[in-house]
Amino acid sequence: MTRKILVTSALPYANGAIHLGHLVEYIQTDIWVRFQKMRGHECHYVCADDTHGTPIMLRAEKEGIAPEDLIARVHKEHTRDFAGFLVAFDNYYSTHSDETRFYSEDIYKKLHAAGLIEVRSIEQFYDPKKQMFLPDRFIKGECPKCGAKDQYGDSCEVCGAAYAPTELKNPYSAVSGATPELKSSDHYFFKLSDPRCQAFLRQWTQGGERLQSEASNKLQEWLGHPGENKLTDWDISRDAPYFGFEIPGAPGKYFYVWLDAPIGYMGSFKNLCARTGMNFDDWWGKDSAAELYHFIGKDILYFHALFWPAELEHAGYRTPTKVFAHGFLTVDGAKMSKSRGTFITAASYLNEGLNPEWLRYYYAAKLNGTLEDIDLSLADFVARVNSDLVGKYINIASRCAGFLTKFFDGTLAFADAKPLADGAVASGQLVAESFEARDFSRALRDIMAIADRTNGEIAVAAPWTLAKDETQRAALHDICSRALHGFYVLSILLRPVLPALTARVARELFGLERDFAWSDLAALPTRVNAYRHLMQRVEAQQIDALVAANKESLAPAADAHSPQRHAEHQQQAEAKMQQKSEWENFISIDDFAKVDLRIARIANAEHVDGAAKLLKLTLDLGGETRTVFAGIKSAYDPATLVGRLTVMVANLAPRKMKFGMSEGMVLAASDAEGKTAGLFLLSPDSGAAPGMQVK
Ligand SMILES: [Zn+2]
Repeated sequence: MTRKILVTSALPYANGAIHLGHLVEYIQTDIWVRFQKMRGHECHYVCADDTHGTPIMLRAEKEGIAPEDLIARVHKEHTRDFAGFLVAFDNYYSTHSDETRFYSEDIYKKLHAAGLIEVRSIEQFYDPKKQMFLPDRFIKGECPKCGAKDQYGDSCEVCGAAYAPTELKNPYSAVSGATPELKSSDHYFFKLSDPRCQAFLRQWTQGGERLQSEASNKLQEWLGHPGENKLTDWDISRDAPYFGFEIPGAPGKYFYVWLDAPIGYMGSFKNLCARTGMNFDDWWGKDSAAELYHFIGKDILYFHALFWPAELEHAGYRTPTKVFAHGFLTVDGAKMSKSRGTFITAASYLNEGLNPEWLRYYYAAKLNGTLEDIDLSLADFVARVNSDLVGKYINIASRCAGFLTKFFDGTLAFADAKPLADGAVASGQLVAESFEARDFSRALRDIMAIADRTNGEIAVAAPWTLAKDETQRAALHDICSRALHGFYVLSILLRPVLPALTARVARELFGLERDFAWSDLAALPTRVNAYRHLMQRVEAQQIDALVAANKESLAPAADAHSPQRHAEHQQQAEAKMQQKSEWENFISIDDFAKVDLRIARIANAEHVDGAAKLLKLTLDLGGETRTVFAGIKSAYDPATLVGRLTVMVANLAPRKMKFGMSEGMVLAASDAEGKTAGLFLLSPDSGAAPGMQVK
């Protein structure tokens, strides 16, 4: 049966960079979505930037740009970072959109008509200089409990106390520095305490396993015992000046996050419908038969499991099928820290040249579908990726595929095919159950057990020994075919986690003209193409460089949460990206093809009288000879060069030098100055012959 599945991840705020903590959720969701699609279901994954609010308004003001320009820039950055980690949304949109405005107003009007909106006057801190009400995070002062200075309006970072902003001693506005005044204003509330909401939520949270058991317990605690009403009304409005949607019929009042951010799920999907011709109501209408899943962090559970379904229900829309909450990321057992360099941005990870699939694999190995926090242990990350992915998985193909292409023209032969295919299908069922339950760690344990079994068989049969004995060809063919079947099965099962790598395996190694489908498990591969290098090991130095890069980008140790800090951090990260952009001065393949690189044999090498740096080389290009003056005297004794092969640029325009004509150039590696680390002439692998083209 083909299921209709709509999946969302929480909307990241458009006021900062995506970091590895965010990616726990997007990678988790992406793996689950890819799994569903691979199984042949109709699955759509939508998300958007959460673009409204005071912090965005103030930051844009500080940068001297319009909020629309700020959110457009951040949207571009977020889109780039998600794509870099292979998070494949079907639509990544913005809450600052006509669609989201439409559904915000629609839901508000329906809740209003149902008598679930109430206006109340509340007292709040007001900045008389800036003429605006201040969110808690923009009020600072001395902690009422321990007296620590410069603490936020909601909690103290020194003693951990939580309090109301009105309790702060000597409060001041973090925006202007002015002393805030208490001022009253009308606010709009959604009446979550209404008996209708309570009755609905009691029923909604009980049936149908909508929540993980830990989350469900939390919900019962929030709802209280039957007869008790512990739910409180939610403030859904903010006063101008504010960047957001004005509330219909309430000039100067704007929808606060609870009435626009999650509605961004609907806005993004509506936008996807416009593109694809799907019918919105089939998915969000009261009687929708589609499944709707929200992946969220456990910090927004209250909102997604109480406020959101109550809001949808009473506005006449369908409610979520399930809400999947996950824990937070710690790095090396502690909260991500800017001073330790473990507050790692997505962009820095990619800029340092780390493979995104390493992180996808590592997160998958840690995620078990519960609310537990997951720890990124940097040493374990290196060990696990190298041992599982390179040592166990890739190793199977790199050790065995070559024998198949060398001795058997790439064909696979199976003595007993049916048990192999049946075994693969059975493994697939087991692994599918774990993926479906979001227990990715169990899925990967089962997958790696297949890799272990396959490697065990290879070790026993020792194809490298069989290959030396002409009489053992059948045995060699058998073990290599079974090994490559194992690799094929592993690649199918790993596709949700490693989409780019397995796409290469499908196309380059197994010659498919598409990506793997889950149903491919029932078939046996018949041939392989020549093995090409698939994945690098992680080097510990790469992790050191990553941590160092994230330390650098936040030199001044100011408070980490103020919007000013975010802006600064952002600018530094951007400056760093610009430094890296030398790599992006790409040339086309046509540009590269202009360079005629050839293998050359050094027929003769000699010192040049009067030249401090040069050696005179006579290069044999397989018939033709060339004279080249090369600046490698500091590194090579001419006598050691004679007879060896190297790589030369054969079509470099001849250059007249003081000592004669130089008719090309040899290639050597060096550091930027060519001094400290020395010079290293390139050599081809054995088998290359003079005159061969390098491309
Ligand atoms: Zn305190």
